[in-house]
Amino acid sequence: MLEWKVNVRETIPYVPGEQPQEGNIIKLNTNENPYPPAPKVASMAEQMDTDKFRLYPDPDVGMLTDKLAEYHGVNSNQVFVGVGSDDVLAMAFLTFFNSDKPILFPDITYSFYKVWAGLFKIPYSNPSLNRDFTINIQDYMVPNGGIVITNPNAPTSLYEPLSSIEDIVKANPCSVVIVDEAYIDFGGESALSLIEKYDNVLVVRTFSKSRSMAGMRIGYAVGNEELINALKSVKLSYNSYTMNMPSIILGTESVEDEQYFQSTLAKIVNTRENVKEQLEAIGFSVLESATNFLFATHERVSAESIFNDLRKKGIYVRYFKTPRIDNYIRITIGTDEEMAIFMEEITKLVK
Ligand code: PMP
Repeated sequence: MLEWKVNVRETIPYVPGEQPQEGNIIKLNTNENPYPPAPKVASMAEQMDTDKFRLYPDPDVGMLTDKLAEYHGVNSNQVFVGVGSDDVLAMAFLTFFNSDKPILFPDITYSFYKVWAGLFKIPYSNPSLNRDFTINIQDYMVPNGGIVITNPNAPTSLYEPLSSIEDIVKANPCSVVIVDEAYIDFGGESALSLIEKYDNVLVVRTFSKSRSMAGMRIGYAVGNEELINALKSVKLSYNSYTMNMPSIILGTESVEDEQYFQSTLAKIVNTRENVKEQLEAIGFSVLESATNFLFATHERVSAESIFNDLRKKGIYVRYFKTPRIDNYIRITIGTDEEMAIFMEEITKLVK
């Protein structure tokens, strides 16, 4: 065999949700926000000075970092910004998970963690969630090389009380505990309040869901200054100009528009609770969601067939053919109009 083929870095890549390019579909499969980004983002996009694109962007992403620090009431040296939270998480895995002991994350959670662990050759172990998909915190009280918890979890949509997260952080002073809060704006109390108390917790956030900016690729981490410096060193050893200029500028505008942000969140939460009730009325069990999606299973009709039949009607939801959750569909919350069509079609499928 050719030597490069022997030495090639083999990976089993993450499988992102479908991004169909044709119009006229109802897209409820990748937890995007159905509402546009804040109006301030649109007006800044129109005013943007494209001549500036000649220049490299700020490698420290100063403007957006400062804005986020102000927003969360922390120092700028406690914030690290990256190209979506996937970039921030990947960088955090590379930076902090370098032990012979396995890192820990639940058997059912964001499926990218396994992929990064594989890519970076990090040993890992996956404690099983309880039958009701909650975490057993004792599973995280064992020797480990680091911990990642998604809260609220995906794809289950469940929120773990902050006290459980704190117990895990407290019990593991020698490990970095990453709390992936991609969905926290839709429900639950953030672990950001733990940052002043514990120097081993890193909270990761994204603009892709609650801020309607998945296409701009903005994510960030907040933590103790030493953790943030370690992340910055690794990033600057890899690629210094990761954040493009429009994302930095438009992301900053989004944070300015708190009122719009809050009103969009409230609309989505309201739609979520209405749809949950309607699904329950036609025989679905739906987990208590603290996110912008629902995780549901039907008493009679298989999730895989519902997924396929909805798809034929141009309605995309997410289905994971994975043990323990292969009879569930994950439904992103769209607009009220989209969800009305969704309900009409799914009702026909389970009649
Ligand atoms: N974490 C979780 C739990 C997610 O569901 C996602 C979205 N796929 C991400 C991180 C990554 O989001 P992004 O890179 O768009 O910030």
